[in-house]
Amino acid sequence: MPAAISLKECRALAFDALSHAGVSHANAEAVADHITRAEADGCKSHGLFRLPGYVASVNSGAADPQAEPEIVDAAPGLVAVDARRGFAPLAIARGRGALADKAHEQGIACMTIRNSFNFAALWPDIEPLAEAGLVAFTFVNSQSFMAPAGGTEALFGTNPMAFACPRGGGRAPMVFDQASAAMARGEIQIAARDGHTVPAGTGLGSDGQPTTDPAAILAGVQLPFGGYKGSSIALMVELMTGGLSGGFFGYESAADHKRDGGPSNGAQSFIAIDPGRLAGPEFFAHVEALFERLLANGEARLPGDRRLAARARTAEEGITVEDALYTTLQGLAGRV
Ligand code: NDP
Repeated sequence: MPAAISLKECRALAFDALSHAGVSHANAEAVADHITRAEADGCKSHGLFRLPGYVASVNSGAADPQAEPEIVDAAPGLVAVDARRGFAPLAIARGRGALADKAHEQGIACMTIRNSFNFAALWPDIEPLAEAGLVAFTFVNSQSFMAPAGGTEALFGTNPMAFACPRGGGRAPMVFDQASAAMARGEIQIAARDGHTVPAGTGLGSDGQPTTDPAAILAGVQLPFGGYKGSSIALMVELMTGGLSGGFFGYESAADHKRDGGPSNGAQSFIAIDPGRLAGPEFFAHVEALFERLLANGEARLPGDRRLAARARTAEEGITVEDALYTTLQGLAGRV
């Protein structure tokens, strides 16, 4: 029987579990906020499910629970952040204001983050930029779990990217957020936990052969979505993250990883653009016209609409947490 809890309780549980593990107040708040946003938007694979992994990375000594990110004003349009082996949410929260200011001042700005332990979904990272009127991209790499198209050995992380577009009229921004892998690793882990198979094309077993067994894929390699096209996007994400930031590529991150079940030392980058400086004030009406046509087109929907519907629902109803996970989290929070 799953436990039913409010979002406030979710945030408190996450904060307490992290604090109990020795995570600093600022880091625990930032990670708890990220986890709660994932749960609020119905993203179970990046919500409370990830909390034991964050704690494991502290216990193994991989992540620094007291890390204070270093923010460098690298150029008029550039922010360079070194997370100093801390969790990504605090590094992002600390750097994002400077990124937005520079994008408003210059019309465009870029921020890189290296040495950051990222275990999260990406839309919460850029939704605030779009709420501030900016078009935004973000890219993240992780330790290598995925073979390039045609390969059988892990080289790339599952390498998600997200894109956000502001909307007028008080509407929530349109944000899509997707892995370069055919299936996000968290989803494969949940399928393995729940005894389900995964679709063909998700990955290869350690023998290099295609399989639909999630446990075999977790021991083998994942595959990119869409063959060589997804593989090129994963390659771009490596270059935009480990490359641009001077941090780790996926395979370097894997070599650094302590096999503790937690996040890896990866990298991230952001690009933020002020659309008004290019398209003028007509930008908002123009994009709405495109969205209206899309929505009038058969069963098409905007990316992010499922999340926003979940957000409206969980604000009223709260969330459910799988029973065994809830017991684990209570233990981590020192409540049993
Ligand atoms: P999904 O395939 O579930 O969704 C990808 C995007 O497509 C979402 O924006 C989703 O919107 C949208 N979408 C889904 N169905 C439709 C549809 N029918 N029409 C229009 N849009 C649609 O995500 P992934 O499995 O690829 O990734 C899951 C999460 O895992 C992401 O948040 C990602 O950031 C995270 N991740 C994190 C990693 C890390 O290292 N930190 C590594 C890899 C993944 P909607 O949400 O509204 O359905």
